[in-house]
Amino acid sequence: MSANMRGLLVFSALLVAALSQKLFVGDQVLRVIASNEEQISMLRELDGMEHLQVDFWRRPDKASLPVDMHVPFHSLQSIKAFLEYNRIPYSIMLKDLQLLLDQEQEEMKKARMNERSTNSFSYSTYHTLHEIYSWIDNLVAEHSDLVSKIQIGKTYENRPLYVLKFSTGGTNRPAIWIDTGIHSREWITQATGIWTAKKIASDYSKGTIVTSILNNLDIFMLIVTNPDGFAYTHSTNRMWRKTRSINAGSTCIGVDPNRNWDAGFGGPGASKNPCSETYHGPYPHSEAEVKAVADFILSHGNVKSLLSIHSYSQMLMFPYGYTNALTPDHEELNNLAREALTALTSLHGTRYTYGTTIATIYQADGTTIDWAYNAGIKYSYTFELRDTGRYGFILPANQIIPTAEETWLALGKIFEHVRDNPY
Ligand SMILES: [Zn+2]
Repeated sequence: MSANMRGLLVFSALLVAALSQKLFVGDQVLRVIASNEEQISMLRELDGMEHLQVDFWRRPDKASLPVDMHVPFHSLQSIKAFLEYNRIPYSIMLKDLQLLLDQEQEEMKKARMNERSTNSFSYSTYHTLHEIYSWIDNLVAEHSDLVSKIQIGKTYENRPLYVLKFSTGGTNRPAIWIDTGIHSREWITQATGIWTAKKIASDYSKGTIVTSILNNLDIFMLIVTNPDGFAYTHSTNRMWRKTRSINAGSTCIGVDPNRNWDAGFGGPGASKNPCSETYHGPYPHSEAEVKAVADFILSHGNVKSLLSIHSYSQMLMFPYGYTNALTPDHEELNNLAREALTALTSLHGTRYTYGTTIATIYQADGTTIDWAYNAGIKYSYTFELRDTGRYGFILPANQIIPTAEETWLALGKIFEHVRDNPY
């Protein structure tokens, strides 16, 4: 090979590295059914092993729930051999992750449109951070009497964190907080947040439930809770979950912002390994994004409900995640969850499970809603939106509107309950 040719090759390799997304060609998502504690702990040992790069979409905890693991092509053979040797049954949920991501990209390209107002915005498409931030400005401009934008802080990489405030007046009214996208790859959540904000703004003047809610309560919405991670899912790695902070003493980047809160921080329902997707970080609220939200909510002082929206699994959960202890409000939270889900299911028949986090999905320490509950916010819930694993985090965009519509019915029940039960 000539020196010129070699130079050209090096140059094109650099170009590809600079311009292109991480590819997931041949990667699979396996659904694994562990049948006992021993198998669960064997699966757990795979978490954060740097050479295998197994990415748990739903991590091992209790034998009753299947484990979903995204396995890179290069470790597929060893992982399958490991499962077969240990007689752990599995099936292939996604045969080639990249095929699904290519489809998602194609759909986003096709949908490029006139998005100069929130009416011409395409709610059935996934959007970039830049597009969402322009949409936020449009919404505020179009509904300046009702909606305002508050910057509550900056991310690790210096991006602004914007909260939408819906208010019809009063001073520091009791409030509902909604955050979406704290895990950046859960794209259905930011998209649902966008649809929901538009719904609130356009329903207010129509004499709907929104009118009576906003005559009593303020609503705060943080649609992109993890902007660094979200920008990275678009530019580089669609499967990015964590923040983008650098971890001292490790080459692995990022902290799980839903294990970073000061509530049962550092317990076994989080990882001490910076390479794990559930790494809790060096200390509570170490992540700028988490600290900004915690500081804002505490300084507000009158937040009555906190709804933190994730995907996927179709679950509605309330505290606790870090302990089996039930809260003093258990019965009320449980009844409200059931009522909210009856409404949700009535629209498209989508089935959810519900209960405390630890009983419904798995032990999770340092989560948003446990912190919120301990901070005195009684009505604290986590949603896990669609689906149950058919597409997982790559939910097709044609499910955005149905997902948002059904979720809206559940949110409405919670809003009404908060309005009618002041404390
Ligand atoms: Zn999540």
